Amino acid sequence: MTLFDLSNKAIIVTGGNRGIGFALAQGLHQFGAKVIIAARDEKRNQQACDAIAMGSERVLPVTCDVTCLDSVSSAFKQAEDWAGGLYGCIANAGGRGVGCALDEMDAMAWRTTLSTNLEGTMNTFKAAIGPLKAFGEGRLLAVSSLAALHGSAQFTDYSSAKAGVEGLCRALSIELAPHKITVNCIMPGWVDTDMNADIKQDKRLFESIKRLRVPLKRWASAEEMVGAAVYLMSGAGSYHTGDTLRIDGGYHIG
Ligand code: NDP
Repeated sequence: MTLFDLSNKAIIVTGGNRGIGFALAQGLHQFGAKVIIAARDEKRNQQACDAIAMGSERVLPVTCDVTCLDSVSSAFKQAEDWAGGLYGCIANAGGRGVGCALDEMDAMAWRTTLSTNLEGTMNTFKAAIGPLKAFGEGRLLAVSSLAALHGSAQFTDYSSAKAGVEGLCRALSIELAPHKITVNCIMPGWVDTDMNADIKQDKRLFESIKRLRVPLKRWASAEEMVGAAVYLMSGAGSYHTGDTLRIDGGYHIG
C-alpha cells in the first residue's frame, strides 16, 4: 500500500468531470490524493467532485479551458493555493475530432483538434512545471491514444495531435529529470466513454472492432485505466520516465 500511497499529494486532472478523467480522479482519491478536477463545465465539475468525495475536503472543482494558457494558469493558481502545493498533473482533456478525410477537412476543425489535444497538453504542463519544481518532486502524465501509433482513417487530426503528445512527453521528461519530475503517457485503446458514443451506436462497427481488432474481445471501461495511472503517479513509478504504457486489450499486437 505504501508504494502506491498518495496521501498529502495534490494532483490536477484535466477533463476529470467524466469518462477516463473522472475514473482517474476517483482512483487517485482512493489512494489518498487531494484531487483537483479541471474542465469547462462548472456544474459537471461540481457533480464529479460530489460523486467522488461526498463531503471529503480532498476534492476541488476548478473551471478551465485547456486551449487557453491564461485559463489553465489561473486554475493552477487556485489549486496550488487550496492544496498548499502541487505534486502532479494528468493532462487528460481531449476529444476525437471531426472524423472526415483529410482532403475534405476544414482547416479550423484541424486546428481545434490540435488545440484541444496537443496545445491543451502543452498549456497544462507549462502551467504545472513551476508549482511542481517548487514542491521538490512531481509527476506529469498525459493521456495519449492508440491513434498515435496506428493509422486511423478519418482521424488524421487526432492521430497527429496524439503523436505530438507522445513527442512532447519524451522531450519534456529529459528537461525535467534533474528536478525529480517524471513525465509519461498512458495510451488507451478503445474505452467505453461519451467520446465513442457515436461508434457504439453503429452496432456493426462496434462488434467488428471488438471481435477482429482486440485480442481481449471487448472495449475497456474507464476504470481499467486507473492502475497504470496510480503506478506512474505514485512512489512505485519513481524510476519510470519518458515512457508510454499501452492499455489496449492487446490491440497493438495486431
Ligand atoms: P470524454 O468525452 O468522456 O471526456 C472528455 C473530457 O475532456 C471531459 O471532461 C471534458 O470536459 C474535457 N474537455 C474537453 N475539451 C476541454 C477543454 N478545451 N478544456 C478543458 N476540458 C476539456 O472523453 P474520454 O474520457 O473518452 O477521453 C479522455 C482522454 O482520453 C482524451 O484525451 C481522449 O483523447 C483519450 N482517449 C480516449 C479513448 C477512448 O476510447 N475513449 C481512447 C484513447 C484516448 P468539459 O466538456 O466540461 O470541458
